[in-house]
Amino acid sequence: TPPDDAPRFNSAAARDIEYALHPYTNHKAFRETGPLIIDHGEGVRVFDDAGRSYIESVAGLWCASLGFANQRLADAAYAQMKKLPFYHAFGGRSHDPLIDLSEMLIQRAPLSAGDRPFSKVFFANSGSEANDSAIKMIWFYNNAIGRPAKKKIIGRIRGYHGITVASGSATGQPVNHKMFDLPIAGFHHVSCPHHYGYGLPGESEEDFATRMAQELEDLILREGPDTVAAFFAEPIQGAGGVILPPATYFEKVQAVLKRHDVLLVADEVICGFGRTGRYWGSQTFEMRPDILTCAKQLSSAFLPISAVMISEQLYQGIAQGSDAAGTWGHGFTYSGHPVPAAVAIETLKIYDELDLPNLVATRGAYLQKAMRARFADHPLVGEVRGTGMIGAIELVADKTTRAKFDATRKLGARWQALGQEHGVMMRVMLGEIAAVSPPLVISESEIDEMLDGMHRALEALG
Ligand code: PLP
Repeated sequence: TPPDDAPRFNSAAARDIEYALHPYTNHKAFRETGPLIIDHGEGVRVFDDAGRSYIESVAGLWCASLGFANQRLADAAYAQMKKLPFYHAFGGRSHDPLIDLSEMLIQRAPLSAGDRPFSKVFFANSGSEANDSAIKMIWFYNNAIGRPAKKKIIGRIRGYHGITVASGSATGQPVNHKMFDLPIAGFHHVSCPHHYGYGLPGESEEDFATRMAQELEDLILREGPDTVAAFFAEPIQGAGGVILPPATYFEKVQAVLKRHDVLLVADEVICGFGRTGRYWGSQTFEMRPDILTCAKQLSSAFLPISAVMISEQLYQGIAQGSDAAGTWGHGFTYSGHPVPAAVAIETLKIYDELDLPNLVATRGAYLQKAMRARFADHPLVGEVRGTGMIGAIELVADKTTRAKFDATRKLGARWQALGQEHGVMMRVMLGEIAAVSPPLVISESEIDEMLDGMHRALEALG
């Protein structure tokens, strides 16, 4: 007979195991454990099919910025579906949601290269598609302006830019490469700039940043500056473990890129819309990207939509190339789909009403202080890091040597499971790093409740 907690025949869990192929899952282990089925959401919480409630400590996947219920966003989608459920934007067709959202994004964008405003917006459906589009734009641009050899893309180890063939090649995580035959040719990676993890004994953040920038320059020189097109960077590496750039890092990196005429792509798929304590991560870290990609919080995750913003220089090259080729042969059926665009417009209006930069600065300061107060001195915790509404707690076996735990102990996975028992949906990355990035609208008392749950779960780990 099956154990008591085995999924019942024909239950939702049994049908899930039978039919669904889950993303990011060990499919063999999954057949034993089955799914956790989430039924509905309310505020910063989700509820499973047995009625248990969980505070979402990572806003789903860093995306549900306004939480898990919002009448205005639902109404915006419904109204748009009734008025015009679909139209495309190929060949100059358009509609109001696409026009309004493009204007709103450009008006709210940070400064691009040369302290100039961004020029144009292109829409896609996911972060991966946005970054894939950015890569193709760069290739098209360099062909259009007569430098066809300048195509190589540099990403960073532990960077995450998605999982399609090109964006997955820019990603710098072994799990996305191993057995997928990625990265494809022409993609390179420099070191992860985590000072706590990779700084040499006694090396200051500034010296570490100098070393990181030098490594980038050495790679560009080795490959040949005439062959290197762009550098991809998240302002804060999110899925790679919430890695904040060390002091002076982007200043030094941008000097290198400028010297060799290499474009900067800021992947703001996680950092955009308030995560880092300002509207954009590029503002927090003084980046002046040529291209900016965003997704997730653009629609508070209520519907899929992503965007690529490009500088005037990129636009001019692409326009020139499109004329030479007869068209710019790129675009998705759903580029600028009116329903997610309408939801994104409403999301940006809500951000304006919330005075997003002010909200995330004050609530973020509370979150950062509360995290450090509970976890910094814990014997199992090596580093508590973050800024604004993004953070992480990293476990170590030895606080002094920073030695990692034996992976077979599965400490992080156990912490995550215990968190769930304590009413917190946690996300432990790379075995030992708990992300802390709740919905932006979380209250101070909910922050305390979330962190207390995570703390009790850590205590229970023993
Ligand atoms: N870029 C960053 C920084 C991300 O964090 C993610 C997803 O987590 C992506 C790109 C890929 O986005 P998507 O999963 O929507 O394709």
